[in-house]
Amino acid sequence: MKAHTKLLIALISGAGLGLLLHPIADQDWVYALSTHVFSPVGQIFLRLIFMVVVPMVVSALIMGVYELGEGQGLGKVASKTFFYTAVTSLASVLIGVTLVNVLKPGVGMVLPGLSADSAPLDKIKNNAALGKSFSATLVDLVPKNPLEAAVKALDGEMVSLMVFALLFGVGLVFASAHDKRKESIVIAACTEVFNACMKIVEFAMKLAPFAVFALVFNSTIKFGYQLFSSLLFYVLAVVIGLAIQQFVVYSLMLKGIAKRSPLQFFLSIKDVMLYAFATASSNATLPKSLAVAEKELGLPRASSRFVLTVGSTANQNGTALFEGITVLFLAQVYHVDLSLAQQMQVVLLSVMAGIGTAGVPGGSLPLIMILLQQVGIPAEGIGIVLGVDRFLDMCRTTVNVTGDLVIATLVGKKNP
Ligand code: ASP
Repeated sequence: MKAHTKLLIALISGAGLGLLLHPIADQDWVYALSTHVFSPVGQIFLRLIFMVVVPMVVSALIMGVYELGEGQGLGKVASKTFFYTAVTSLASVLIGVTLVNVLKPGVGMVLPGLSADSAPLDKIKNNAALGKSFSATLVDLVPKNPLEAAVKALDGEMVSLMVFALLFGVGLVFASAHDKRKESIVIAACTEVFNACMKIVEFAMKLAPFAVFALVFNSTIKFGYQLFSSLLFYVLAVVIGLAIQQFVVYSLMLKGIAKRSPLQFFLSIKDVMLYAFATASSNATLPKSLAVAEKELGLPRASSRFVLTVGSTANQNGTALFEGITVLFLAQVYHVDLSLAQQMQVVLLSVMAGIGTAGVPGGSLPLIMILLQQVGIPAEGIGIVLGVDRFLDMCRTTVNVTGDLVIATLVGKKNP
C-alpha cells in the first residue's frame, strides 16, 4: 500500500474512533487508552524527529551555504540564486502571515484545559510575554558559544545555532578557497551526517501511520468535531497562500524579469509539478527538474544544475509559507498573542527554516516544532495539524519545486 494511502486511512480511522469515543472520554478505560497507549506512540514518533534536529539543521545549512557560495565561475550565479531565494521566500512567508492574520483560522478553537481563564493558558501567555525586545532578539541572534546554542537548541536557541551554521558555511568557502583538501573533509562529513539524519527521518516516517492514528485519535477524543471544522480554514489558508505564490508571484517574476510567458512555463513543467505533488519530495523530483530545465525550458546546463541542486534543499518557498501559517495558526489556537516583533521573528525564522528544511516528505515538521518553541507555543501543537500534513506537504512541495525552476529561469536568462 502507498504511504499516503496508509496515512489517509490512519487519519480517517483515528479521527473516527476519537469522535466515536469523545462523548465517553472521561471513562477510566478510555482515559487509560488515550494516556498510556496512544500518547506514548505519538510521543515516540515526535521524539524520533526531534533527536535529529540539531545535526540535521547544522549540516544542511553548512552544505547549503557552501554550495551557494562556492563554485568558481559560478560566483555570479550563486549570488543571484541567493538573492532570488531570499526574495521569493520572503514574499511567500509574508503572503502566509497576511492570510493567517486576515482569515484567523485558529481563533475560536477552544482547547479543553486551555480555556480563557485556565492556569495552563496563563503559563503559556506568560511565556509569550517574556518575549524579548526587538534589539535584544537581534543581539541574541548571534550566539556567544555555538555548543551552548546547540545544547539549548530545542529550548529556543535554534535560530542562533542557524546563524552560526550559516556563518560557518561562509567561512568555509573563504578558508578553503586556496586549499581544496579542507573543503572535502568538512563537506563530506556534513553530507554523511545529513544522510544519516535523513535515514532516521525516513525510519520515523514509516511509523507515521501509527503516529498519525494515535495523535489524531488523541486530538479528536479531546476536542471533538470542532478540530476538523477549524482545520478546514487552516487548510484553506495554506492552499490559498500556496496558490498565490505559485500562480501570481511566480508569474509576475517570470513575466517581469525573465520576459517569459507564465502559461508556457507552467505547461512546460507540468510533469515536474505532478511528480512533486505525488512524491511530496523536492529531492526525489530533482532528476525530473534537471531534465525539464534543459529540454523543455532550454536553460543553460551549468547554471540550472547549480540552482536546481542547491534549491532542492535550500529554496523551499512553499514550506516557508506553510511554516509561517502553521506557527501563527497554532498561536491563535493556544491564545498566544504574538507582538509585532514576535511575528517578524516568525517571518525571519520561517525564511531560514525554508533554507534548512530537507527536501523529503515531512522534512519541515522538526523545524516547525522549533519555531513553536521559539515563540512560546507548546511543540505538541504540531499534533493538531499532523493529520492533514500529508496533503499540505504534496501542495507545498509542488510550490517548492516550481520555485526552484523559476529561479533557474531567472538566473539562466541571457543578458541582452
Ligand atoms: N516535503 C517538502 C519537500 O520535499 C519539505 C517539507 O515541507 O516538508 O520539498
